[in-house]
Amino acid sequence: MKKNLIILGTGFGAYSLIKSLPSDLYQVTVISPRNYFLFTPLLPSTTVGTIEFRSIIEPIRHSAKYLTYLQAFAERIDTTNKTIGCRSAILDEEFEVKYDVLVIAVGASNNTFGIEGVKEHAVFLKELDDARILRRKILDNFELAALPTIPVEERHRLLHTVVVGGGPTGVEFAAELSDFLEDELTYTYPQLISSSSLTIVEAGKQLLNLFDEKLSLYAGQLFSRRKIRVMTNTVVKKVSRNKLFLNNNSELDFGLLVWSTGNTSNPFIQKLPFEKDRNGRILTDSNLLIKGLEDIYAIGDCATPSDFSQPATAQVAMQEGKYLATVFKKKATHSSFKPKPFLWQNFGMLAYIGDNKALADLPQTKSSGFGTWIFWRSAYLTKLVSLKNKVQVLYDWLKASIFGRDVSRF
Ligand code: FAD
Ligand code: NAD
Repeated sequence: MKKNLIILGTGFGAYSLIKSLPSDLYQVTVISPRNYFLFTPLLPSTTVGTIEFRSIIEPIRHSAKYLTYLQAFAERIDTTNKTIGCRSAILDEEFEVKYDVLVIAVGASNNTFGIEGVKEHAVFLKELDDARILRRKILDNFELAALPTIPVEERHRLLHTVVVGGGPTGVEFAAELSDFLEDELTYTYPQLISSSSLTIVEAGKQLLNLFDEKLSLYAGQLFSRRKIRVMTNTVVKKVSRNKLFLNNNSELDFGLLVWSTGNTSNPFIQKLPFEKDRNGRILTDSNLLIKGLEDIYAIGDCATPSDFSQPATAQVAMQEGKYLATVFKKKATHSSFKPKPFLWQNFGMLAYIGDNKALADLPQTKSSGFGTWIFWRSAYLTKLVSLKNKVQVLYDWLKASIFGRDVSRF
């Protein structure tokens, strides 16, 4: 009889496992509140309409015919009876699922560092819904600022966007917004554009601190030419409805606040009684098995092998998913099979920084500028998970370059 393989999540780790696993070896059930895979590297582009939302998602039910999908949150794991307690993502309906082999690939949550007011007043950039909220809010603020009754000071506040966190998420969003302001909103709202501004607040001494120093300097110089204000060595202490309170005792008014200060473990992972690192990630052995267990694996942003702390990136999660598919394939036919340790291969990092320029920090070379932007686009076009997504994204890029991004508010 086939073993029950339960996969929690529909992100990079889970998706690459599902796509690489042969269809006939396990009874596969995927449990996730999100019934689609989301290609996050292009998520910032959807916040301003360079790319449309549906162009970077792929329904999980179409990813493999053999799987059963349940739209639910995993809430508990009972390792004695080998069951998972789940709650429907649509109704308040609870149920249990039995597993023989379990893969936890539930990703991470946005880190607020417990700072007062962040959850209430900031917008994150992790899920498609966040991008939709951002796109709507940018246009809301311009339409509000255009009302004849709005005083000048209030107009400046409404059109001031602040991004907290100068890591790749914050930088890529700022780059996209800056393009939108220059390419479309300048012509759509000529009377307002001089009142608009964009600020990045970063606790460290530079943007993109995981990138090569020359590349992060290049990004800083481009941002300064594009009038994006970068406040480094500045930490946000508190957030109120329209105001940020900073560690240097100054305050910043904003109309839109984007919070991108990295990851923390999600509530489900926090509740699990497994050993974790200081970032709350589950510690696994070198075969990605949770320490001390024989049938529960953890991959992607929610976990790390204990002997080597891996970055929380899509490329790590994908490689782990593929690795597990190979292990499961061999184990299904040879139960005594002893897999080799998982070894992560670093392919480097890419980031879009605006004005048709990108950065590439690759093991063999570092580059920046227009040529790197062409490389960035080609690399992500290749990595998109379906032909449909590739065609849609190409079409969106072409449409935006010929007709501009759409500025309708709906
Ligand atoms: P995720 O892809 O986050 O998926 C987690 C899944 O688990 C989701 O389907 C979620 O719905 C589900 N889930 C959550 N809770 C539960 C639960 N309780 N029960 C069941 N399922 C649950 N990385 C790169 O390498 N290159 C990039 O260019 C890049 N760009 C990025 C841009 C942005 C804007 C962001 C936010 C991230 C980017 N990343 C990039 C990081 C990358 O997205 C993550 O490292 C990657 O998604 C991690 O994959 P994962 O499978 O661990 O988790
Ligand atoms: P990050 O952890 O990479 O960066 C967060 C930044 O926020 C840090 O520079 C930190 O100093 C700053 N910060 C933290 N608290 C602050 C505060 N109170 N005030 C001001 N600044 C503060 O987070 P991210 O950019 O959200 O990325 C999350 C993960 O996704 C990372 O692993 C990243 O590598 C990955 N990612 C990769 C890409 C890419 O490769 N292009 C794009 C996006 C995300």
